[in-house]
Amino acid sequence: MANKDYYSILGVDKSASEDEIKSAYRRLAKKYHPDLNKTPEAAEKFKDINEAYSVLGDPKKRTNYDQFGSADGNPFGNAGSSGGGGFEDFFGGGGGFSDIFSDIFSAFGGRGGRSQTLQKGEDINISMNLSFEEACFGTEKTVTLGKIEKCSSCNGTGAKNGKEFTTCSSCHGTGRVRFQQNTLFGTTIRESVCPKCEGSGKIVKEKCEACSGKGYKRVQKTITIKVPAGIDNGQTLRVRGEGNAPLKDGINGDLNVHISVASHSILTRKGDDLYMDLYIPFTTTILGGKVDVPTLNGNYSLTIPELTPSGTMMRLKGRGVKVLNKDKYGDLLITIKAECPKSLGKNAKSLLEQVASLYNDNDYTKYNNYLKKMKK
Ligand SMILES: [Zn+2]
Ligand SMILES: [Zn+2]
Repeated sequence: MANKDYYSILGVDKSASEDEIKSAYRRLAKKYHPDLNKTPEAAEKFKDINEAYSVLGDPKKRTNYDQFGSADGNPFGNAGSSGGGGFEDFFGGGGGFSDIFSDIFSAFGGRGGRSQTLQKGEDINISMNLSFEEACFGTEKTVTLGKIEKCSSCNGTGAKNGKEFTTCSSCHGTGRVRFQQNTLFGTTIRESVCPKCEGSGKIVKEKCEACSGKGYKRVQKTITIKVPAGIDNGQTLRVRGEGNAPLKDGINGDLNVHISVASHSILTRKGDDLYMDLYIPFTTTILGGKVDVPTLNGNYSLTIPELTPSGTMMRLKGRGVKVLNKDKYGDLLITIKAECPKSLGKNAKSLLEQVASLYNDNDYTKYNNYLKKMKK
């Protein structure tokens, strides 16, 4: 990733405290959230702000960033990229984003003014099973979900054709009313949700038939989920805006896809690297030879050099799994293990005895060292 100055994006000092960073993020996210700010540059700004906060808001990534100018080791570096639905980002675990968003939206509701209570619909959680290869190469999966959607017949208004309503006379369409309250400390002006229209600012004259005036509907929806190459067992794929619609005005929740990956019969995955134990005839470890090994891109003819000790680890660079969101691949690490034959025939035994007699202890460095230590 290019070296962006995350501190200047959030408008904070390099020495800013965690709280200062969080409040700067909160302020900017509110200002540029695409649902609240319709200027053309808002989406891009919002993306940068999220990216900056995904690094500076995490003490470990922030330390990396301060030291190395990047939050490396972080597959979530693109948090909050490009608007417009579809796959956007990953959240491995926790991540304070949703907390902050609920703060933002409740802050909006609480502040009142012209905007009505902005709600976020509920997230939908599903699990998805992937084969080992699907996780390595990425795939597209179709899922059918039961979810709440804004009623299209009335555009969420609950009124027939989306037109048969009038502006609420109590609140003049703002959805909020002010009233005076006398307290010990004097008279204060307080605000609350308009009781007549329940905050919608509208009075429905004739209900929408499609949704019985609710403004939303429960539907079955089939969507295609793009699973990126390199996703791993236990990770969660977040698809922005594919969760439930809110029951009032607001933004959709997210769809969280919890990933389970099947194991492979030969290869073991650890992060982006693949591991395998390769058992070969003991004679091949001595004489050398070629052995086919499985890689993600088909078999690879591995050359075993003469006199390869059992336990040797050979690394095939770039033959592991694609690194999530990066144009990089892990490695394949092969541990060579010498296997003895099932039985020893008379001929083999006498030939091997002849071979053994050609060597003495000095021909085996490690074995000889061991013998010397034993004698002490
Ligand atoms: Zn409707
Ligand atoms: Zn009202």
